[in-house]
Amino acid sequence: MRRLFAGVVLWAMAALPGLAALPGLGVQPVLGASTTFQGPTAKASFGQSIVFEQRVDLRTSPDRVEVLIDFPAAIGPEVSEVPAPSGAGVQTLRFSLELADGHISPNTRLRARWRLTFGDATEVGPAVSVLYADTRFDWRTRVGDLVRIHWYEGDAAFGRRALNIAEAGVKKAEDTFGVTETEPIDFFVYASQAPFYDALGPGTRENVGGQAQADIRTMFALITPDQIDDAWVGTVLPHELTHLVFNTAVRNPYHFPPRWLNEGLAVYLSVGYGVDDRALVHGAAVDGAVMPLESLTGQFPTSRDRFFLAYSESVSAVDYLVRTYGRPALVKLVRSYADGVTDDEAFKSALGVDAEAFGAVWLKEVGADSPTRFGPQSAPAGPVPPGWIAEPSGAPGSAPPAVGSAPASQPAGEGGGTTSSRPVVGIDGLLAAVLGGVALGIVVVGVALVLRSRRATP
Ligand SMILES: [Zn+2]
Repeated sequence: MRRLFAGVVLWAMAALPGLAALPGLGVQPVLGASTTFQGPTAKASFGQSIVFEQRVDLRTSPDRVEVLIDFPAAIGPEVSEVPAPSGAGVQTLRFSLELADGHISPNTRLRARWRLTFGDATEVGPAVSVLYADTRFDWRTRVGDLVRIHWYEGDAAFGRRALNIAEAGVKKAEDTFGVTETEPIDFFVYASQAPFYDALGPGTRENVGGQAQADIRTMFALITPDQIDDAWVGTVLPHELTHLVFNTAVRNPYHFPPRWLNEGLAVYLSVGYGVDDRALVHGAAVDGAVMPLESLTGQFPTSRDRFFLAYSESVSAVDYLVRTYGRPALVKLVRSYADGVTDDEAFKSALGVDAEAFGAVWLKEVGADSPTRFGPQSAPAGPVPPGWIAEPSGAPGSAPPAVGSAPASQPAGEGGGTTSSRPVVGIDGLLAAVLGGVALGIVVVGVALVLRSRRATP
């Protein structure tokens, strides 16, 4: 995810003579050849900053001072340099991680250590851990076997109901994927949109109503007080939790499975392949509007019709996969991703056909025509410098030739830009779900729920 903090910071030290003998906040000092580290501290202020401090007693001035911050699920710490003290003695090193420079989701726990370099030698101080939390609300918490639900609107009955639904959702996904969750999962329920979007951070799509962040094993959902008893709450929780369990099953540093598989499984396990989804897929097949699965491997379309159709097609494909190849093949497919294989390797191993072939038979199954392939196409020859010899085609300096095979028309629906046609689906009784993204190239992240009424129909 967005972990690229400019490491903006600050200043380091104020000489504090007289404090050398003070014990460091209940932590045993760590003695290095040139440094005595007292207990480091970290203080988080929601939406503002996280300030890390380290008191040190220096026998000589260091050449370099850095703070090493570990983010959840990251392969290594982020290193930020802080101006080095120019003299020896007791100093307080300080670094402020500014939230304005990069969003951090609430419920993120960071761990930091300080590293001082003296010539060729480095000395690393003790670690400090800090939880960045949304402190704006008086959260109520209910703890289950795995899930901890946190909410600030609604009564105890809501907490009980939500927790039971969530725990059952985890169990079902565990059974399906053949994995066992052992670490707690936190679920934060927001009651209004503005603070919910503050928590998710900038760049969040406006139709997002929920998000699962696997790196911090945390889900966020927007459920207003008047929706708490709605039936769709019973599907939102298992949907999001399925994403987290799916992530546990497929986690690897190389390749994440296609989105249609992830979303299709979340819908399949939470509501099944229902009549609404079947109707959408059938209608799209009749209209020639079915999107091939290979177009649904990344972000789903943002136009309203295609956004919903993407989910319907995804669950349709999962339903077809299970009916045709059986549940063991589905489990094998999902689990094979943990080895970092490609889509084709995973599909061939589990189903005996590659991903493209599976997409083709699924298209046939739903009665859709295979779409005309318009690309990729060779780039037109551009202008080249005078005297250029090795031109593959066209004369040097000539205008790029027209591309005769350019599509005569755009595929229906999306056209060029869809920005202006993005759905703004609020809390009007519509429910849907969207996977928001892959974090750090590894981790699933955003799973969004929008409300769509058709899902509320039993
Ligand atoms: Zn989803």
